[in-house]
Amino acid sequence: MMKQTTDLLIIGGGASGLAAAVAARRFFPAVSVCVAEQNHRVGKKILATGNGRCNLGNDGSGTQNNPYSGTMCKYIPEIWKNTKDSVAFFREMGIIVRHEEDGRLYPSSNQAASVLDALRITAEQEDVFLHCDSRVTNITPKKSGFSVQIGDESWTAEALLFSTGGLAAPKTGSDGCAFPILSRLGCKMTQMQPALVPVETDPGLLRFLKGVRVPGVVKALSKSETELAAEQGEIQFTPHALSGICVMNLTAKCAESDLKWIEANLFPQDTEEQMEAILWELYAVRAQWKLEDWLTGLLPKKAGMQLLRSCGILLPFDAPVYRVNAEELKNLAYLCQHWRFPVWGRGTWNEAQVTAGGISVQSVKRDLQASFCPGIFFAGEILDVHGICGGFNLDWAWRSGQYAGKNAASWILQKRIGG
Ligand SMILES: Cc1cc2nc3c(=O)[nH]c(=O)nc-3n(C[C@H](O)[C@H](O)[C@H](O)COP(=O)(O)OP(=O)(O)OC[C@H]3O[C@@H](n4cnc5c(N)ncnc54)[C@H](O)[C@@H]3O)c2cc1C
Repeated sequence: MMKQTTDLLIIGGGASGLAAAVAARRFFPAVSVCVAEQNHRVGKKILATGNGRCNLGNDGSGTQNNPYSGTMCKYIPEIWKNTKDSVAFFREMGIIVRHEEDGRLYPSSNQAASVLDALRITAEQEDVFLHCDSRVTNITPKKSGFSVQIGDESWTAEALLFSTGGLAAPKTGSDGCAFPILSRLGCKMTQMQPALVPVETDPGLLRFLKGVRVPGVVKALSKSETELAAEQGEIQFTPHALSGICVMNLTAKCAESDLKWIEANLFPQDTEEQMEAILWELYAVRAQWKLEDWLTGLLPKKAGMQLLRSCGILLPFDAPVYRVNAEELKNLAYLCQHWRFPVWGRGTWNEAQVTAGGISVQSVKRDLQASFCPGIFFAGEILDVHGICGGFNLDWAWRSGQYAGKNAASWILQKRIGG
């Protein structure tokens, strides 16, 4: 017969929910734990992370140089102090973690599936009941504990832990269905928007750029041209958007700002004078060459062609380079370092890797328990915290999961002792 009661019910079997389940059982084996997951299997999103390799953490996640934003950030130091880092957390499940460029951490297997297997098998070994194909549709606080609607089953639990994720990548299960349930109980959320997404711009400015990748520095500018954030890396161009980790990071860093322009500097290592001198040198060497080949010693051909058009050099591409005049060359040098793209929008939830915004710190106490209803805990992306690319979002999921799982189980035991 189906088991319909548990001490701790974890709603959502993603990264944070599984970490919470393992931590709760390891610290407090007297507390029974069930994970309700609406998908057929737990951890669907984990399999998609890091292009299937799972960038499971970052050496820099606890440093002064804070890679996180959101109202819940103020709890990060305490959560970090009281939880295992991802290397130690996974080592205890038999995962060896390798360190890569920029502090990124990956499983030695290079397979996200091995991270999910480690979590799932450990949870099962700890007697966590993984209840899949189980969508939680409503919860009702009772005098003691909660009654919970899971599909057509009615469950009771002493405490609940919401780890249902945000709104990013809804196909993996994080479709936001928990937010209205929590709103009804008085939970406050900050405005949510897609982050770690491409930035849409005028497709006319990307005519020749589709598929091109160039290194550079990208800056996010406001309407008043104030610099909001800057990132270095590989800029990628799609038919309608700017992408690449550096661009996506700008959407995480400027989640609350009114982003109006992305400005790309393709030659951040050169001064303006050096830039102009380089173009004059290529002008001299290639004066008789076709315009379309002028900049190929400097940039991918299509990027050069788009730059010429974007700075208003409208000569046919088979015209000789010497027909470009001094003023046009000066403008081109400027554009190489200040190439502006208007922001037409951010990518969709389907394209987003993470949610900026979520449950506000106003509704959450230091132990990650709801301030509006005792016995409800939270972990992961459902909370108003998001990080830049590099393993920071999974780091938050494991850490907040461990912390909330441990605190929820401890709360149940204390309540019992207190009568
Ligand atoms: C393509 C992609 C690549 C990424 N790569 C990385 C990376 O390499 N490194 C990194 O740090 N971060 C990465 N991220 C971000 C990271 O995966 C997430 O921040 C993290 O998985 C969030 O974990 P979570 O447990 O909070 O939520 P989720 O992993 O979204 O899990 C939530 C779970 O709750 C379930 N659920 C929702 N509602 C209900 C309900 N009502 N009842 C029952 N179950 C429910 C969902 O089905 C889902 O399984 C990536 C994200 C994407 C989309």
